[in-house]
Amino acid sequence: MSAMRHLLDLCKRRGFLFQSAEIHGGLRGAYDYGPLGVELKRNVSQEWWNSMVYQRSDVVGIDTAIITPPAVLKTSGHVDQFTDEMVDSRLSKERFRPDKAPELKLDDQGRIPITAPDKNTAKLWENDIRTQFARGAMITRSGKQILMEVERMERDRIVLKQDPSTTSTTSDLDSSLQIPYHGYVDPNSNSPFLTESRPFNLMFKTYLDPIDPIDKVITTTLDAQKSSSDLSNTRQLVDKVLYPSLTYLRPETAQGVFINYMTIQRSHPHLRIPFGIAQVGKSFRNEIRLEHAIFRTPEFEQMELEYFVAPWQAQDQFTSWRKFRMDWWRTYARHHDRIRERPHTQDELAHYSSGCVDVEYLFPWGWGEVEGIANRGDFDLSKHSEATGIKLQYTDAILMQERQAREKATGQKENNTEVLAKERYTPHVVESSCGLNRAMLALMLDAMEAVDEQGRTVPLGEEKGVRTIMRLHPRLAPVKVAVMPLVSNNKDLVDICTDISNRLRQELQVNVALETQSTTIGKRYYRMDEIGTPWCVTVDFDTLNDHNVTIRDRDTGEQRRVSKDEAIDIVQDSLRLYPRHSRPQQTIAA
Ligand code: ATP
Repeated sequence: MSAMRHLLDLCKRRGFLFQSAEIHGGLRGAYDYGPLGVELKRNVSQEWWNSMVYQRSDVVGIDTAIITPPAVLKTSGHVDQFTDEMVDSRLSKERFRPDKAPELKLDDQGRIPITAPDKNTAKLWENDIRTQFARGAMITRSGKQILMEVERMERDRIVLKQDPSTTSTTSDLDSSLQIPYHGYVDPNSNSPFLTESRPFNLMFKTYLDPIDPIDKVITTTLDAQKSSSDLSNTRQLVDKVLYPSLTYLRPETAQGVFINYMTIQRSHPHLRIPFGIAQVGKSFRNEIRLEHAIFRTPEFEQMELEYFVAPWQAQDQFTSWRKFRMDWWRTYARHHDRIRERPHTQDELAHYSSGCVDVEYLFPWGWGEVEGIANRGDFDLSKHSEATGIKLQYTDAILMQERQAREKATGQKENNTEVLAKERYTPHVVESSCGLNRAMLALMLDAMEAVDEQGRTVPLGEEKGVRTIMRLHPRLAPVKVAVMPLVSNNKDLVDICTDISNRLRQELQVNVALETQSTTIGKRYYRMDEIGTPWCVTVDFDTLNDHNVTIRDRDTGEQRRVSKDEAIDIVQDSLRLYPRHSRPQQTIAA
């Protein structure tokens, strides 16, 4: 079983994560987070907020609306440019993004193997290829695989071998045997029979109107067609009628920050550049291809920071933020070799951006982006400023007062443009944009480990005699402590457990499980290991006399006999992000 399958099974069985609306057949790409999943997701989000907002004096939070008027997203460029290229597979009718699709694979005899989901589909596809897509090509079929002989590969096309037994004319064969090739194939089947790629806007539209927009579309279309049958004209009329109620579900949280830049600055005059505004919230994208469970879904959460800097600080700040964010990832992930930064190539960069890196995690299917960090220049504030006529600038009050004092003293106005440009300017923005759901997936995969009966690590996939330990960072663990009586039906032991768990809840404000299932203590420990609980506290008959308990460490399996107070202290100490007296440098120099 693959690591991903293993994780998804565990997630469903233990109540982290499952398909939404499953009893009604489910909805592709929609997931619900169960009692443990919701805790883990909140903890990841809280750790992000803690490091980005609470640990710093230069960042404040915001929570902006999801429903967004078109003017905002037209200005930001999303209405015209938030597109992905889309391609359809002509055999399977699957839709996919060519930029994420693999290159053509050949088998060891140089043939193209096209894999259908089953034997019957392979027969249908073979017929489609023979009659429509590559008439006269040399094809064989073996089970659910269709094998096509290749004459030669050229830069932008594949020339297939001709079947000598076909009777078609030579010219007919020539064109049928040449398939355009743009460097990618259908990711599922390896088929090169594809439509041309076309752009597709990822934003979800919705209409703020009690009248069903479809009624408006029908009425407008019928009226328009009475006077003209020109379809593009009808489309324009429909768009015009719908426009007043048109809104979008935001595709990122960042725009909510830019449009509130001035209001935040005015209400928080202590914020001097460089300063940041952080936001965690839902975003929506009508993704062409939903993949790898919560890795790519239409509805997801982002944790974003827009950090406003002076233009001359931007490059250094970009570098500092890259380090700061990589340090964050390394605090919570165990396998540092599975996290890397990938700088964008020049042709990946947005035209306004002077630097962008993806933070990537090595998922079971390969490297995948979990966060983007970008030096966005002044693009966003300048665009919103142009569109609204409102100057979204920063004035350095101290520099201004100093200049005014000099002017008063000398009696002369200072018009030096360099001095004025340092005093008032449109800030540049360094952005960190992290997917909460993707982060959660990466951190779960990172923490998950299979061990055999002797506690030795074994590869995931070996099922027999293997159990899972989720070695999550204690601050991420959904349950921090499980308190359990040695015997679950003994009222005295259960009462002590109830008392200890209440103390833990009240004193540490953490999620505690009172485990009273009537299975062996060993099994209960293993169940807690599987969901990542760092400590189990066991109350036994000796506790009735000596008031001590056993505390067990998830990662070492070590058990210590300690007093109740000591048990609480151990948990509290281990939940500290940094040991006392060794705080790392958290702020970035201005
Ligand atoms: P991708 O190339 O994977 O589509 P992106 O470059 O479009 O991602 P950004 O626009 O930079 O992503 O968004 C910032 C972060 O939001 C990503 O790093 C990712 O963690 C998260 N994210 C983006 N799209 C999705 C999605 N459909 N589902 C889950 N998380 C997403």
